[in-house]
Amino acid sequence: MKPLFIKNFTLEQLEAWVASQGEKPFRARQLYKHLYARNISNWSQCTDLSRSFCARLQSQTSLHALTVARIDEARDGTRKYLFGLHDGNFIESVLISDPPRCTLCVSSQAGCALGCKFCMTGSRGLKRNLETAEIVDQVCMSLRDEKLGPKINSLVFMGMGEPLANYDEVLRALTIITDPNGLMFSHRRVTVSTAGLVPQMLRLGATTPVNLAISIHAPNDALRDELMPINRKYPLGELMGACRKYPLQTRKRITFEYILLEGVNDSTAQARELVKLLRGVRAKINLIAFNPHPGTLYRPPSQEKILAFQDVLRNANLTAIIRKSRGSEISAACGQLAGQKQLIPEDWSRVP
Ligand code: SF4
Repeated sequence: MKPLFIKNFTLEQLEAWVASQGEKPFRARQLYKHLYARNISNWSQCTDLSRSFCARLQSQTSLHALTVARIDEARDGTRKYLFGLHDGNFIESVLISDPPRCTLCVSSQAGCALGCKFCMTGSRGLKRNLETAEIVDQVCMSLRDEKLGPKINSLVFMGMGEPLANYDEVLRALTIITDPNGLMFSHRRVTVSTAGLVPQMLRLGATTPVNLAISIHAPNDALRDELMPINRKYPLGELMGACRKYPLQTRKRITFEYILLEGVNDSTAQARELVKLLRGVRAKINLIAFNPHPGTLYRPPSQEKILAFQDVLRNANLTAIIRKSRGSEISAACGQLAGQKQLIPEDWSRVP
């Protein structure tokens, strides 16, 4: 039988559940504090809860929604976690240290249905949506990693899956992550990335002030239709219209992710098209050279071509940053996540 994940509950829902157990309402806040502010790894750490309540928590609920199957570390210090789910599926999270930033890249689905041509996750299809607890626990478990965990100060929903295709669970996870009584991340330090699910994007903007990133990757519909099939449903005109009316707080901008593929979307003419496309949008652009993975025919452009592309954007007064590729040799770089279960190392007892 599927376990009841305690981390599926927001504080409000936890209060209702605690009341249904015949416990006093203040127990819910106590419990919530243990789960997130203290980030406990064992029910026995809740010394201020009665023994009988602890025993009931232990027998009726599951504190952990994930198990750590493997941790890889790249030469640049990037850490990739392979997490096991209760049904035998696997997901990945990536922790990237770039002081003063230390960013955890979180997955929202096991696999992805959107099938972007350059993406390893997309090439394997969707297994299923993650539950709230499976999203939140990626953060809780990574925070407990002695190497970098305590330094995590920002989160991006750019791991496996399209977050807005799993809207309700992602929103509930965001509530817990940004709750001052929960995981206490500032909205300014949390970014949700989408391939362009327009209705859900507008709903998100009306609901929470977290940052928005859009995987754009092509400056016109013909090419985007080919690279990202979701564009056939929500073409660029509709997507950019939504960006123009997106409720942004003062000084905030929408981030556009653009993976550069040699000979496909990396010409200066295409950079000029992108400039036109972004007119009227408060935008910044992240340029990322493609990270090849097994089975792909795409290649990254030369450094010269990347700089020429960036120059066109900068000359049009757009902020365009070339992002360093991180963790590519452990397949932790952008578009390389596949949730593959590999050999579990013998020293896996070092897991958080
Ligand atoms: Fe899914 Fe993102 Fe990969 Fe596209 S790039 S297939 S939306 S995970």
